[in-house]
Amino acid sequence: MVAHVVVIGAGVYGAAVAASLARRGARVTVVDAAEPGGGTSGATFSWTNSCGKQPRTYHDLNVAGMRAHRRLAAAVPHSDWYHETGNLEWAATDTALASLRAKVDGVLDYGYEAHWLTRAEALDLEPDLDPAALPDDGIAWFPREGWVAPTRLIGHLLARAGAQVVRGDAVTGLEVAGGAVRTVRLSSGWRAAVDAVVDCAGPRAARVAELAGLALPMRNTRGVLVCTPPVAVAVGRVVHAPHVHLRPDGGGRLLLHDPEDVAADGGAATAVVEAARALYPGIGAATAESVRVGERPIPEDGLPVLGRVVELPNFHFAVSHSGATLSLHAGDLVAAEVLGEDVGDALAPFRFERFTTVH
Ligand SMILES: Cc1cc2nc3c(=O)[nH]c(=O)nc-3n(C[C@H](O)[C@H](O)[C@H](O)COP(=O)(O)OP(=O)(O)OC[C@H]3O[C@@H](n4cnc5c(N)ncnc54)[C@H](O)[C@@H]3O)c2cc1C
Repeated sequence: MVAHVVVIGAGVYGAAVAASLARRGARVTVVDAAEPGGGTSGATFSWTNSCGKQPRTYHDLNVAGMRAHRRLAAAVPHSDWYHETGNLEWAATDTALASLRAKVDGVLDYGYEAHWLTRAEALDLEPDLDPAALPDDGIAWFPREGWVAPTRLIGHLLARAGAQVVRGDAVTGLEVAGGAVRTVRLSSGWRAAVDAVVDCAGPRAARVAELAGLALPMRNTRGVLVCTPPVAVAVGRVVHAPHVHLRPDGGGRLLLHDPEDVAADGGAATAVVEAARALYPGIGAATAESVRVGERPIPEDGLPVLGRVVELPNFHFAVSHSGATLSLHAGDLVAAEVLGEDVGDALAPFRFERFTTVH
């Protein structure tokens, strides 16, 4: 019998899990309370990296996530969501430079690629940067990092899954009997019998878990992103400058992120654009075109929650921050486990039970 799996949430995680389940032969229904890609995955900086992520198991999971993006993009002709264009980062104070040096030393120890550049070398990569905004040297360069366009990726994965996608209809009930989830109920009244469910509800994952009687502790935070109109400036990669983070956002737009995550009011957005203009004077008179506020889905200890729940073995989690980096790889592991494949100890550090076990 073909298993029927309901994937709750159609962000990067839900789409990745659904595509992997479908590839493995499951019958998949993806349900989203709103629109696919309309949650955090539509309001993210989506920098693919494992830059300073601890502990080692989490670093390795992120590196595997970066590899999975590389593999998928190489396998799909004309894929347009993955941009492995590297990341530049520098510091404005001695203290910040010391932390950057420690971070670079740490990732080099883990075998991750990182280099130090001079100002001239950084300008070879980003010729439109104002030379006066850069230090003489001490500019860190991480060439295997980059960014993804999550909604393009979600579109590809859902199309590839060929799954039934239910939009604008929230999961409001999970009927549990005999130690398993038997039925999923939606706000429209739609009901379906299930063999398994996967909680990919991002920042709302705890609420979905609660429907099955599970308590997932989360400490979500909000982040503000500012989008410019199309500007004729050569920004080719992710840039982490002291007062603004930025990257291209397609169609000539730039996506800006304030490292301090200031409130999303008009004045704050103007200050973020000013910080970007100080780096790239070619931004000219452009002002903020839009402001997006995203909610980071962060389990209480900061690490992902992935895989089967021991006390409810057909309920699975796929929830984390850094989901733009992790979801393809982590979602694939979760899907494999849903269908009974042995994933070894790949998910061991990320299991839900770390929150329920009394130490
Ligand atoms: C400002 C900011 C910057 C970030 N920067 C990075 C970065 O640089 N690199 C990186 O890797 N990650 C980054 N992240 C994190 C990353 O974006 C998230 O981890 C990822 O998008 C989460 O995807 P998701 O699929 O879990 O959640 P979402 O995209 O939120 O998808 C969950 C979906 O579930 C649906 N849903 C919720 N409740 C229900 C319900 N009851 N029934 C049905 N559907 C439901 C929602 O409508 C939503 O569409 C950033 C996040 C933010 C906010």
